[in-house]
Amino acid sequence: MVLLSGLAIWQSFAMLKWPQTWLSLIEFAPYAMIFVAAFISIWLNRMQPLLILLSLLALHTLFTLFNLSEPTSIGQTLMLALLSFLLPLNLLLWLLLPERGVQHLGYNFFIAGLVGAQALTVYWLMTELPLAWVEWLTLPVMAGQQIYHLSFAASLMFLLAGFVISLQLYLQNSLRVFTHVCLFAVLLSAFAINQSMQPGLLAWVLTLVAFMVLLALIFDAHHIAYTDELTGLRGRRALMESFMGLGKRYSLAMVDIDHFKQFNDTYGHDIGDKVLKMVAQTLDTVQGGKAYRYGGEEFTLLFPRKTPEQVLPELDRLRLAVAHQVVTIDNKDKKSKKAPKTVNVHISMGVAEPDGQHQTPQQVMKFADEGLYRAKRTGRNRVVVSKAKAAAKTSKAKTAKSKA
Ligand code: GH3
Ligand code: MG
Ligand code: MG
Repeated sequence: MVLLSGLAIWQSFAMLKWPQTWLSLIEFAPYAMIFVAAFISIWLNRMQPLLILLSLLALHTLFTLFNLSEPTSIGQTLMLALLSFLLPLNLLLWLLLPERGVQHLGYNFFIAGLVGAQALTVYWLMTELPLAWVEWLTLPVMAGQQIYHLSFAASLMFLLAGFVISLQLYLQNSLRVFTHVCLFAVLLSAFAINQSMQPGLLAWVLTLVAFMVLLALIFDAHHIAYTDELTGLRGRRALMESFMGLGKRYSLAMVDIDHFKQFNDTYGHDIGDKVLKMVAQTLDTVQGGKAYRYGGEEFTLLFPRKTPEQVLPELDRLRLAVAHQVVTIDNKDKKSKKAPKTVNVHISMGVAEPDGQHQTPQQVMKFADEGLYRAKRTGRNRVVVSKAKAAAKTSKAKTAKSKA
């Protein structure tokens, strides 16, 4: 995104040297890009990006319609001031309003109401031209200079939008590419509106902003598809995909929380989810491998280029780390003076590597599952290495159990 923004600004200055045909075509580019991005947004059932794209579309259309690159009349000056005030306001609004998908009828009416109210306000201001409003909206930050053209009100709105989005990024530690793109959209559109007297510049920057929204849609969809929502670990789809890039040597461990059903039944599903997250967080600290949520209370650890013997100490470290973690069960009775109860959970693991009988990753996974089953049968809270039958006769399956 930083690179794209750099490209947008760099080319904005180089545009003056662009061939005339490019400059005449660039006016159509935002429509094409916004159309494609909006189509993907609807297809992915995402309302927020769609509204941001429509705001960009409205800006570009009104800008062209009223010929605002050279505002001469008071109407044009007011329209430019209004658009540069409303764009950051809308970008912020659409980001802060909750995502409800594109098919929520009641919500769509609410959004239509918000847009309608803005349209009516603009219409009223443009027809009545109330002096106090016009003065406030067009008040420059600094009069008599040629560099900064945004009005005081628009500058304030851009600053507010930039600040609130940055705060959201900071506080929520948002992984969503889309939220980052919104910040770039605010910065770039402020730059583009400020420089909009240069022909084609606004169209060029808006095209790139729409392209960024499109990229964000793709990145976020990819993230959602490959990440487990509850634990934040990579999901099963990511595991299956990582099998494709595996060499001949690797180790695969299947991990399962012990007596989890009983735990859920005793303390409830919410505490169960809390434990799942805690175990996932611990497994995610794995060194030399990657952790995946296989499904339910089962996880998979994949270690490329390692033998089970090499990964055994790391698996045991993880097993102990989980066993030593304390889960706090809050007292339901808030008035009770009793201290919150604390409990521990533990995990069992089976680990295997490819051999003559188990060649595909799926076969190795099944083989590791056999080790896990043995770990469960022999007392749980332990790691068992699955060995090929011929070898198992001579050397017993290795069991590592600590006195945790
Ligand atoms: P074992 O030690 O033999 O593994 O026994 P277990 O009770 O852990 O195994 P079992 O397969 O009988 O139970 C798994 C339980 O995991 C059943 C289900 O309630 C719970 N579970 C699966 N997915 C989730 C989830 O996403 N959230 C919560 N809270 N519980 C889950
Ligand atoms: Mg299980
Ligand atoms: Mg279990």
